[in-house]
Amino acid sequence: MGQTFTAPKGMIDLLGSGAAAWERAQTVAREVFARYGYAPIYTPLVEYTEVFARGIGEATDVVGKEMYSFEDRGGRGLSLRPENTAGVVRAAIDAHLTDNGGGAKLYYAGPMFRYERPQKGRQRQFYQIGAEALGFAAPMADAEMILMLWDFFCTLGLPAERMRLLLNSMGDGDCRPAWRDEVAAFIRNHAHELCEDCVRRADTNPLRAFDCKNESCRAVFEGAPPLTGALCDDCARHFAQVRALLDAAGLDYVLDPTLVRGLDYYTRTVFEIQVDDGLGSQNAIGGGGRYDGLFEQLGGRPTPGIGFAIGFERSLLAMEAAGVDAPGEGTATVYVAVAGTGAGLREAAFALVTRLRAAGIAAVTDLTNRSLKAQFKQADRAGARFVAVMGDDEQARGGVTLRNMDSKREEFVLADDIVSALFALSPDLSAQAKNPTR
Ligand code: AMP
Repeated sequence: MGQTFTAPKGMIDLLGSGAAAWERAQTVAREVFARYGYAPIYTPLVEYTEVFARGIGEATDVVGKEMYSFEDRGGRGLSLRPENTAGVVRAAIDAHLTDNGGGAKLYYAGPMFRYERPQKGRQRQFYQIGAEALGFAAPMADAEMILMLWDFFCTLGLPAERMRLLLNSMGDGDCRPAWRDEVAAFIRNHAHELCEDCVRRADTNPLRAFDCKNESCRAVFEGAPPLTGALCDDCARHFAQVRALLDAAGLDYVLDPTLVRGLDYYTRTVFEIQVDDGLGSQNAIGGGGRYDGLFEQLGGRPTPGIGFAIGFERSLLAMEAAGVDAPGEGTATVYVAVAGTGAGLREAAFALVTRLRAAGIAAVTDLTNRSLKAQFKQADRAGARFVAVMGDDEQARGGVTLRNMDSKREEFVLADDIVSALFALSPDLSAQAKNPTR
């Protein structure tokens, strides 16, 4: 055997139940987000590096230390996307999506790339699902975004009592500068208790120190001056309305003045959903906020925006910790098993799965000449609800023995009647078959 290879460091293969879980997360997102009026968007996995440098901020860790950047053959700087808000806004400006004042609601799902130190729940290629509401300034857009994020996790199956919604306002260009100076002074006063990076941030961008991954720095920042009391009137009113809308919707949240998201473009409302168990310090399964300045930073007209990103791997870890079943690998409804050696038996089985698939029923058969026992095992693994056994006797009579794997009941069914028999046995199957994409 020749040399074999692993996936690159910090990157994993999604296969088996992991791949099934990723597909299910996307299905849940599609269904939940559609109820809120969202449409899908696909942007390139790479953008011109300036999109991220200007959009996320040159001095952030994400842009400064974590991007996979390279030049194309024409010498233009490109980067693998470390997140997708900048790309979506770049695309929206390019396509004039919000120029008519109507706004756009978009969602995406796909891999992001950050050169971070890999650990549980932190990878260099990781998967995110995100949503962006572009062109909406009203507090109702913030509340809707937060409710949709919560709805996603609940629909995915995470118990509400395991999740905690953190909420804060970061103010805007009017009230943030004075607060930023206060935080810078706080850092200088506590320099002896903070890491070098945090101390340096006093001069570059003090607010980013709130995001330090160091536990001891985080503890110090619990005592940092909060912005909440110093918000300008407009920001304070906006924040109060967002909270009132969440209160009216019955969604609990924790006000956390230390919640300051690391990317430059956030203004006003920021939020995060955390879970307690299983993830250690990587306990944020999703978060986001308002970014009213981003369009202009990317050369567009002033346009408000708000969005979130969900971390797929961490959501999966949270589900495992909560004992919520990840979806199995099986996709087949019917397994057609061959129980005999008669001429043409395998071909007849093959013809039957083809007929079932044409009727919209998921069906598989053995392609490797396995024993009947091994085929039943395979049927189990495939999650089959029915096994259609074709032996010499059944073939002679022109049908199959149909076994219901739950009730263990068996009956002989003519090949011509099998589709209607299956629909009669499980009505949900006929609904599925009429709408084979679901
Ligand atoms: P962010 O874009 O940093 O706001 O991240 C949004 C979500 O993506 C976080 O709440 C995490 O769940 C997830 N996430 C961020 N970075 C990583 C990473 N390196 N590996 C896995 N998940 C990540």
